[in-house]
Amino acid sequence: MAERLLVIEDEIRIAQFLQRGLIYEGYRVDVAYDGVTGLEMARDQPPDLVILDWMLPGLDGLEVCRRLRAASDVPILMLTAKEDIQDRVQGLDAGADDYLVKPFAFDELLARIRALFRRVQPSSLPEVLRFADLELDTGTHRARRGERYIDLTAKEYELLELFMRNPRRVLTRDLIFDRVWSYDFGGESNIIEVYVRYLRQKTEESESEPRLIHTVRGVGYVLREEE
Ligand code: CA
Repeated sequence: MAERLLVIEDEIRIAQFLQRGLIYEGYRVDVAYDGVTGLEMARDQPPDLVILDWMLPGLDGLEVCRRLRAASDVPILMLTAKEDIQDRVQGLDAGADDYLVKPFAFDELLARIRALFRRVQPSSLPEVLRFADLELDTGTHRARRGERYIDLTAKEYELLELFMRNPRRVLTRDLIFDRVWSYDFGGESNIIEVYVRYLRQKTEESESEPRLIHTVRGVGYVLREEE
C-alpha cells in the first residue's frame, strides 16, 4: 500500500504542484490549504508523513507542527521560505523532523521524504546495497568492489550509503551536506570534496575499477556507471 502524505500548504499553485508530483511518484496525497483543516484531516485519517508549510494563514505552521507532534509521531517535513538559522531551530524544536527551504528542487523533496521514511522504519535486518560491482553492507558498514573488501570510516560509510541509496540521482552539495554532516556545521567548506576524494581512492584502486562517483559541475555528485 502506498504511503499516504498530507500536504498542508496555502499556496494553491505549490500545493497542486506537490500533489501532482507526489502522486506521480506513487504516493497517496491529501491536501489541506490551512492549518486547522490540516489538523482535522490528520486526526480523521492519520497520514504516514506530513509536508507542512511554515507560513499559513490563521494557525501558522509552527503551531500546527506542535499540535501534530503532541498527538502523534508522524514524520513532519516543514517547508520554509526563511533561511534564518534561528527559524530552523524553532521548527525542529516544535517537533519537525526535517525542513526544506523554498524554492527547492522536487528531487530533493523526494530524497528527504524517503530519508524520513527510512528513519521512521529502520530496517531491523542489515541489507546489502548494490550498484554495478560495488556492494555496501549496512550491517558491517563494509564495502566490497568485486572481490576486494574496502574498509570505511564512519563518514565515508554515511556518504557512500547516501549514494548507494540514490543511484543515478544527482545529489546536490546542500543535500549531501545536510544528510551526512549537520545543519549547524556552518560555513563554507570543502569537506564534501575531501570525502568524495577518499571514497574514490578506495573504490578506484585499479584500471579495472572505473569511476562510479561522478562530479556534476556546479551542482554536486552522482553515482552512475561510466559513460
Ligand atoms: Ca504559505
